[in-house]
Amino acid sequence: MKPDRILLEKNKLELLKNIMEEIPPELELSNIEFEGPFIVIYVRNREAIEKYLDLAQNIAKKVRKRVVIRVSPENRLPPEEAKELIKLLAPKDAGIDPNGIYFDEALGEVWVKVEKPGYLVGRGSMMRHLILAKTGWRVIPQRSSPLESKTLYEVLNNVLKQSGYRVEYLRRLGERIHRDVIYRNNYVKVTGLGGFREVGRSAILVETRESKILLDLGLNTGTIDDPNKAYPFLEIDSLRLEELDGVVVTHAHLDHVGLVPILYKYGYRGPVYVTKPTRELMIVMLKDLIDVTRRSGRYIPFSERDISTMLLHTITVDYDEVTDVAPDIKLTMYNAGHILGSAIVHLHIGMGLHNIVYTGDFKYSETRLLNKANTVFPRVETLIMEGTYGATLQESRIQAEQQLIDIVKRTSDRNGVVLIPVFAVGRGQEIILILNEAMKNGRIPRMNIYVEGLVNEVTAIHTQYPEYLNKSLREAIYNGENPFTSEWLKPIETGVARPDIIEDKPSIIIATSGMLTGGPAVDYLRLLASDERNSLVFVGYQAEGTLGRKIKDGAREITMVVENKVEAIPIKLEVYSIEGFSGHSDQRELLEYARDVSPRPRKILLNHGEPTALSTLATLLRSDKELKSKGRPEVLVPNILDTINLT
Ligand SMILES: [Zn+2]
Repeated sequence: MKPDRILLEKNKLELLKNIMEEIPPELELSNIEFEGPFIVIYVRNREAIEKYLDLAQNIAKKVRKRVVIRVSPENRLPPEEAKELIKLLAPKDAGIDPNGIYFDEALGEVWVKVEKPGYLVGRGSMMRHLILAKTGWRVIPQRSSPLESKTLYEVLNNVLKQSGYRVEYLRRLGERIHRDVIYRNNYVKVTGLGGFREVGRSAILVETRESKILLDLGLNTGTIDDPNKAYPFLEIDSLRLEELDGVVVTHAHLDHVGLVPILYKYGYRGPVYVTKPTRELMIVMLKDLIDVTRRSGRYIPFSERDISTMLLHTITVDYDEVTDVAPDIKLTMYNAGHILGSAIVHLHIGMGLHNIVYTGDFKYSETRLLNKANTVFPRVETLIMEGTYGATLQESRIQAEQQLIDIVKRTSDRNGVVLIPVFAVGRGQEIILILNEAMKNGRIPRMNIYVEGLVNEVTAIHTQYPEYLNKSLREAIYNGENPFTSEWLKPIETGVARPDIIEDKPSIIIATSGMLTGGPAVDYLRLLASDERNSLVFVGYQAEGTLGRKIKDGAREITMVVENKVEAIPIKLEVYSIEGFSGHSDQRELLEYARDVSPRPRKILLNHGEPTALSTLATLLRSDKELKSKGRPEVLVPNILDTINLT
């Protein structure tokens, strides 16, 4: 039963007609292309663009799409000439790096490294507009920062090198996204493929009769040797890769992104939607995963090549920006407060048929790094919410910080070394900020803080995206300060432990991995363990079965393989665990969040939690007075492979 194709293209024709009506003839329209979620208008008369500052914005408003204006290739200045003109036009205070200008010839874009991107794209993008009119190239500013992210430039290089393919891909995707809807207002179903009544391999399939979207595709690194437990249920019949319209990744933790590259290994060539910081952070995390598994002789079902392919198909989305991802689905990401770039996903389905909010991992209180999670959405009928700490109350951050400071003080008084194992993303940066401030204020004596490589790269990514950080950090970075650096912070370049560092006493070492499952933190522990003046401080969750958990639970001798020999190492250093630094909401915050989400959802599905955590939370939500008084949402705790029809 296929309706007439001519009829189907009607909507697209209507759309094009609406756009063309708005374009002044003197611009000399040459082409309109659908490039991914964007509608791109190519014009020949670049000088005339200067007069129409608001054109793209006005068209976007009219057709409710993301609109970009570009100049046809033959009407652009040659790159060398354009480069000189850009340097001339940009205000001196912007701080353009003359060696940081890269041209993407296929797209007609120019990436410009600049100290203050606001000078190029701020205040209605006047400067960007002027540069477009004078050179024919559209400026994409990249913040240059004293801590430069290597990953960002790897990403840019990778994309620039294959820019021709990228354009072809975006146009193919654009056609697909803007295809006409055959079935209007039909069902909306969600199926948990992983991360329901468990933590570690989050994946949700959202289906309408028209399209299919995957929310997260995580990998449980704790059970990596057993694919049955480590990978989500990808093989179910309803998930054929050629039918998949897109993958939306909430944040860069491996239990949410760890298996996305496998899609590309098996031929998927569709988009992954992420925020910009998530794009870089997920590359760091996935490459590190390959490194760590390889070094420990374990199997991982994809390679660097699949990560590159994934990157080539990645589309970035800013917070609060509506993006078409399928003919009947619009995606908007909101701040989740969990780690840099983490997002709460809002899906608007079928012209108002149904609205889903999926929290991913979220923190419903302010942290040193981030604002608390967003609660206000245009509409929401179904809320899919994480419940990791559904049965747990955490200490406040103030208490947690005080504990950390006390431990550092005590250890330095007895001339010891403090070892803090961290996850590369999130807690490491927060600990750096706390210690930095405490030393500045004299709350702890000044001493060297050694920070291991991976954490440094992630910190650099933080300084690249101040607009994703909380207000005080953002303003500090805008004012040219860098709260992540100081004279006593010492980056360590090598990925292995340096014995000379532990001779510097007192001092602090921050290193991965957070649960002592590998990485330099384990090597440093081996060097520090036998001296009772030293301290080991856990600041994150220690999963069952990890070395971190064993030591936290009281193991006072551990065995390690050192240069092919098994060595028994006595644990004599002091061991502490601080619980209040979590990036997840605790029970109180989860309840508060469910009450505060506006408008109120009709259904709440709980995921991302051990069964007891989720059932405890469900009971509390069902009996909550405030929720009861305002319409009492239905609370469900689905199992993996349960499909729930939302309409
Ligand atoms: Zn997470």
